Amino acid sequence: MIHFDNSYARLPDGFFARVGPTPVTAPSLLALNEALASRLGLEADWLRSPEGIAMLAGNAVPDGAEPIAQAYAGHQFGGFVPQLGDGRAVLLGEVVAPDGARFDIQLKGSGKTPFSRRGDGRAWLGPVLREYVVSEFMHAMGVPTTRALAAVATGETVWREDGLPGAVLTRVAASHIRVGTFQFFAVRGNEAALAALTDHVIARHYPQANGPLSLLDHVVVRQAETIAHWMALGFIHGVMNTDNMAVSGETIDYGPCAFMDSYHPDTVFSSIDRAGRYAWAQQPQVAVWNLAQLATCLIPLMGDRDAAIDAATRSVHAFAPVYQAAWLRRFGEKLGLTGAAPVQDLAERLLIAMARQRADFTRVFAGLAGGSARAEFADPAEFDVWAADWQAHRPDPALMRHANPLRIPRNHRIEEAIAAGVSGDLTPFRHLFAAVTHPREARAEWDDLALAPEPGQVVQQTFCGT
Ligand code: AMP
Ligand code: MG
Repeated sequence: MIHFDNSYARLPDGFFARVGPTPVTAPSLLALNEALASRLGLEADWLRSPEGIAMLAGNAVPDGAEPIAQAYAGHQFGGFVPQLGDGRAVLLGEVVAPDGARFDIQLKGSGKTPFSRRGDGRAWLGPVLREYVVSEFMHAMGVPTTRALAAVATGETVWREDGLPGAVLTRVAASHIRVGTFQFFAVRGNEAALAALTDHVIARHYPQANGPLSLLDHVVVRQAETIAHWMALGFIHGVMNTDNMAVSGETIDYGPCAFMDSYHPDTVFSSIDRAGRYAWAQQPQVAVWNLAQLATCLIPLMGDRDAAIDAATRSVHAFAPVYQAAWLRRFGEKLGLTGAAPVQDLAERLLIAMARQRADFTRVFAGLAGGSARAEFADPAEFDVWAADWQAHRPDPALMRHANPLRIPRNHRIEEAIAAGVSGDLTPFRHLFAAVTHPREARAEWDDLALAPEPGQVVQQTFCGT
């Protein structure tokens, strides 16, 4: 049994379409996140039961759930689309955890909705397993993120270029409200809805905010912190459209996302990002661009227009100093440095050397505490010069071991896990999941997952997987 309390479904009609999940033929549980279930106050045993699996597959809507597809708009690669919305997901409802925190329970891949456009409303196993592993790794590293409660196989075939096994992901989020949710009402000139949405977001995510400008200030700070986390892990979101930016500050929509193996700031994986708009080093600027779109939506609620534009502009510009401070904090920890150490200079010099030598991002940082970083450089002399300056500041190994994961969900390992999953073997997926959700723990059985890909294993491109 789950006790739902659905605050979003109590908003006015235009916010969503009431639509249930479409049942599937042969649901079976692939993965259940017991740690998350317990954090939410849900019973893992119930979720594993036939009744629980029926809910996770979209075959039964439990009492108290009020399934809806949320409406939103968004800028996709800079081009505005006035209507997107949940085309392959339904929000079952919200639960309030034992500590009082409220969470959305959403099924992704649950069938068509009024927002499906030409899509089939389904997901295949690959993107479901990818999101499950990557979002839970992000959580393990302390990055604000949506989470994965369960993955269920549907027993149905999903047609992309080939026929692939279908799956449904149960996604858990502080909310699924996006910058694009605000844009949906702003482009329609619906100020009453914008005001209602603003009140809802403030009550839910920023109770300390006292109006639309203050809300914007808070969202800017949260996003700056989140993006600094991404940068510190070599994470590339891949599709930072405004409909994929949550106003809660959580990382959302793990589509073509990827972690860098060898470091270069211009790294891009997404097959559709031909111009490198969402490359690793672009992410802070893109976040600012997206936040400017949110600011534009909120200006009509802020009184005198000229004054509102000035205030909103200042608010968005506050991203830079907050991000800079967060970046220094994150990279300071990665280098084990505190206090007056010249973090910026040392981090930038290290990154420049890494880029020049295409050193492995994760292995270099993970190797700083134990002395194996040097071996990641083809020309260690460049590292040695840097390391002498760095050591002079007496780096703290405990700080480094906390900030630098030993293992990340590497692209080639994810693909390996997906390929095995498609042929019915979830062992590699489970092995990878266990290893990356304990990213700081050294264990011999996980050593292989800390290795960089061999030249023949390097993944060049990732796909949205829609
Ligand atoms: P995304 O690229 O995952 O952020 O999705 C962008 C938009 O396309 C959203 O409105 C999705 O709901 C929609 N979409 C993506 N895949 C599908 C699908 N298979 N069926 C229906 N809608 C989809
Ligand atoms: Mg999306």
